[in-house]
Amino acid sequence: MAQGRKLVLVTDLDNTLWDWFAAWHASFSAMLQALEEDSGVPQSVLEGEIRTLHRKYGTTEYSNLLSEIPSLISAAAGVEPWRAFPRAVAALRSERRRGTALYPGVLEALTVAKSAGVSIVAYTESLAYWTTWRTKHTGLDGVIDVLYSAPDHDLPRGKRFEEMRSQPDASYDLNKTEHRHVPRGVLKPNAEVLLAILNSVGREPHEAVYIGDSLMKDIAMAQVAQVTDVHARYGEAQQHAGYDLLRRVTHWTDEDVERERAHVGSIGLIRPTHTCEHEFAEVLPVLGLA
Ligand SMILES: [Mg+2]
Repeated sequence: MAQGRKLVLVTDLDNTLWDWFAAWHASFSAMLQALEEDSGVPQSVLEGEIRTLHRKYGTTEYSNLLSEIPSLISAAAGVEPWRAFPRAVAALRSERRRGTALYPGVLEALTVAKSAGVSIVAYTESLAYWTTWRTKHTGLDGVIDVLYSAPDHDLPRGKRFEEMRSQPDASYDLNKTEHRHVPRGVLKPNAEVLLAILNSVGREPHEAVYIGDSLMKDIAMAQVAQVTDVHARYGEAQQHAGYDLLRRVTHWTDEDVERERAHVGSIGLIRPTHTCEHEFAEVLPVLGLA
């Protein structure tokens, strides 16, 4: 190996390989608008009840959401809410499909790295089901060698992902990428998890590069683990219009929201070693490639 050549790239997924925030915002806000129009329940009431459910299940992408929102259950008058408000479900699905796409140049850069013998490992806090869906939808099944995600949330007893699972179960799994789970409740910036991931693929911290969009989570974690860190600055969403909607309904605690808000714009609090200013492919030189 040439001096400085790295052997493994560990990459965050949401807002590093694809614009999770844009897809989430487009789909969630379209759903909320349709729900308000069709149920008569004001968005502000829906948002408050949704946040309670997101916190209960530890995710902002809860598949059984509509069926558990109290004011929608009332408005639906005995019908399952996801059946009573089909326009909202359709808007959520179509905007999600439309909005979930790789950032420009991601597939090409990953292919260059793989061809040069670099292992591609992904690590996301997002839950297994939607991570699998996005990985397949963006064509990264098999491009990513090993994917680490959180396990799925528990559904209420007797429930399945009924509004989503219209295909045989096998079609929801990855075919080529190996999908492993990190322990439930483990969150970035816990450096132990990154070190355990590297250990599991037989690599040392100095052989790896880690890339992610969050200074507070991704960069802080990589620096503690002494893995070369790269900030995907092009993916930062916190200053986008619409980010306040996410803050209002997120499963994060108020403390988490405030901690992140304090980091936005406070240059120097966590300084990345390398930065991809405009696109993912800027990570290639850090790997010791072109
Ligand atoms: Mg991210």
